Amino acid sequence: MNKSKKIGFIGLGAMGKPMALNLLKAGYSVLAFDINQNMVDEIAKQGAVPCTSSGEVAVAADVMITSLPNAGIVEVVMVGSEGIFSQCKAGTTIIDMSSVSPSSTLKMAALAKPLGIDYVDAPVSGGTKGAEAGTLTIMVGADDAVFEQIKPILEVIGSDIYHVGATGTGDAVKIVNNLMLGCNMAILAEALILGVKCGLKVETMQQIISKSSGRSYVMDAKLEKFIMKDSFEGGFAMDLQHKDLGLALEAGKENNIPLPMTALATQIFESGKASGLGREDMSAIIKVWEKITNVKVTGGE
Ligand code: NAD
Repeated sequence: MNKSKKIGFIGLGAMGKPMALNLLKAGYSVLAFDINQNMVDEIAKQGAVPCTSSGEVAVAADVMITSLPNAGIVEVVMVGSEGIFSQCKAGTTIIDMSSVSPSSTLKMAALAKPLGIDYVDAPVSGGTKGAEAGTLTIMVGADDAVFEQIKPILEVIGSDIYHVGATGTGDAVKIVNNLMLGCNMAILAEALILGVKCGLKVETMQQIISKSSGRSYVMDAKLEKFIMKDSFEGGFAMDLQHKDLGLALEAGKENNIPLPMTALATQIFESGKASGLGREDMSAIIKVWEKITNVKVTGGE
């Protein structure tokens, strides 16, 4: 995409700010807004044009990107009285990179179409580290022509860009992925507790199972880095994992698909949130099992 095009960025949080910074570094002109003024001030120091509302961004931008906490907020930012839809010009492309349900995206896309706005879902995986490094996996739901038009922008933000299919399919693959992530984490936690209770060292289980059929991404990514260190800062917040399981349940309900494992995992993470672990990495769920069973796994060798 032509770098003279102006990119509007709404939502400068843990993911949005580093993504917007990477666009600035790549030479794009970025107009930025967040309800948290500090975030706007910080990115303005790096060269972004500070704005006082989403609408102000929308008036001037050619392409809009949103990275917001949830679908309710995305919908208000899009169609609220001062929202993006009422302010942006026909021909604008809106790329929503938040994790939301496919049905919410389809609703927004249907409202955008008569206004001449292309609405794209492009949720991400890879966490804040991936956002900072510009190595996110991006799952895009868009028409072919729109995807080709926005691909150069996405290539600045991520390293693995997938055009999944039509609008809503990016969100769908994201919630399927995170359903699996959450269920696998819940399984890892209870399995480790049983192993230690049966007299195994955590290190022994790691060594053998990582070469056996019980291995998983969460074992690679979470066991040594968080659980064995008994340190749960950074990583992927339990609150977000819980939210994503809820999105999967919502999609299951809308599509008449039973998701019993997902429902159970949601309740397990609900208990983690109730224990005050919501802001820690999702692998902190093991601390709930430790408390119930009086078995110590964290920090274990
Ligand atoms: P965050 O809470 O750090 O950032 C969200 C930002 O949106 C905040 O700065 C907040 O002030 C701003 N905001 C809220 N309401 C607003 C409004 N009405 N107008 C403008 N700005 C508003 O969240 P995050 O971790 O950056 O996540 C953003 C999205 O990416 C979420 O949908 C999340 O599920 C998804 N996600 C996060 C991660 C991760 O590791 N953090 C990974 C993948 C996907």
